[in-house]
Amino acid sequence: MELFKEITQDCENAQARLVAVSKTKPIASIEGLYEKGQRIFGENKVQELCQKQEVLPSDIEWHMIGHLQSNKVKYIAPFVSLIHAVDSIKLLKEINKQARNNERVIPVLLQIKIASEDSKFGISPSDFNAFMEAYQALDLSHVSINGLMGMATFTEDKDQIRKEFQLLQEIFQEVKHNNFKNQPAFKELSMGMSGDYKIALEEGSTMIRIGSLLFGHRNY
Ligand SMILES: *Cc1c(COP(=O)(O)O)cnc(C)c1O
Repeated sequence: MELFKEITQDCENAQARLVAVSKTKPIASIEGLYEKGQRIFGENKVQELCQKQEVLPSDIEWHMIGHLQSNKVKYIAPFVSLIHAVDSIKLLKEINKQARNNERVIPVLLQIKIASEDSKFGISPSDFNAFMEAYQALDLSHVSINGLMGMATFTEDKDQIRKEFQLLQEIFQEVKHNNFKNQPAFKELSMGMSGDYKIALEEGSTMIRIGSLLFGHRNY
């Protein structure tokens, strides 16, 4: 079976959504998948995201999946459907400000550091409560925290990947219970990429972000 269909089917079975990660790929590749019915696309560079959004159909849901600098939020604020990797109060405040300027509420996910490898990005689980306290002290009515996002360690060790996804699922349940009780919008767990999405779906991912499996390898 064709890979796109297979992944779409896996998502349906798990009641998860597929984010097609089209970074570095040309417009024509996105159109190809669009014609097959895919409507959610993810990019990790603001400029590229804006250029593609401008020329592609308006019913595409554009997700910003990569690290986002505060000074670039304004460019995507008018149209972005979901920002996956928020990891600072400064960024959250800027998203709120730009969303207000555009008279909208922007949905975001908080990125949690779950990998064993050193990463600059993501909130450490041990810092999470402090983050939430700082967030709750502000009144950010133009952002909606809809869940969490994480990336597993880049490794062949499937047990380690599974453990990291399980950890993220535990954190998700805990945060939902402690901080977002009775807030049905907090329901997304964005985890799983080309190499590990099957494990992620088994561990309760609601959103997988797939690039190379759909579009082929990237040449940076
Ligand atoms: C590039 C990227 C992906 C997709 O990676 P693949 O391994 O090509 O599926 C997913 N998430 C993020 C944050 C990315 O930057």
